Amino acid sequence: MRLGIISALAEEQHGLIEALESPYKLVHGMREYTGGKLWEIDAVCVLSRIGKVAAAMTASILVEKFGVTHIVFTGVAGSGDKNVKVGDIVVAEELVQHDFDASPLFPQFEIPLTGLSRFATDTALTERLAAAAAQTTRVHRGMIASGDQFIGKLAQIQALKAALPDLLAVEMEGAAVAQVCFELGVPFAVIRTISDNANDDAAVDFMHFIKTVASRYAFDVIERFCKEHVRSV
Ligand code: SAH
Repeated sequence: MRLGIISALAEEQHGLIEALESPYKLVHGMREYTGGKLWEIDAVCVLSRIGKVAAAMTASILVEKFGVTHIVFTGVAGSGDKNVKVGDIVVAEELVQHDFDASPLFPQFEIPLTGLSRFATDTALTERLAAAAAQTTRVHRGMIASGDQFIGKLAQIQALKAALPDLLAVEMEGAAVAQVCFELGVPFAVIRTISDNANDDAAVDFMHFIKTVASRYAFDVIERFCKEHVRSV
């Protein structure tokens, strides 16, 4: 396995790059890719920057240029359900691009020519990440939606929840990585620590949370995930 680890923001990957043994760096397409051994796993860490296009490009480059065989996206997200609280972790089973709408040619949310509106994550990776995360905090599994908007208004999150009732979390990259991995046949998973309630307080909660809690969670979960993977093979 060569594992690609993507986050949008530096805080979401805090400490991981420093944990890489025998690191090498390569800048390509305005991103810095750092490879090496992460708790004995061959890994490449990169910050995608924010949004679906940025994430799609980064995932593609990881596969095509760095030869990664598996991808994990780790980051923060807004809550999409009243039972999903700030500080909980959501591990995606499916991802939807909530701002994709080619209707009436195709049903809302369906990605043309794939026949899909939901992209499923890899079961084994998802299982292992959820198990690692459960040792840190409360974990939920289900649907995450991505779009090119920071959801920071109560009316916005309510509208999304009405359209996608099983929504657990909302963010800006996961579903783009999902589509790329589906099309390239690469197993992937998405794990998100809830940073805000995607409502009118979202921007303030987000900034505070990401600096204090989210960075530590991501590190702990990825460390456990890698060690468990090495034990199991
Ligand atoms: N003010 C920040 C903006 C970050 S955008 C900055 O300048 O750096 C929010 C990032 O966190 C995105 O990468 C997204 O995936 C995730 N995220 C967290 N809460 C979100 C929300 N409520 N809506 C959409 N994305 C959210």
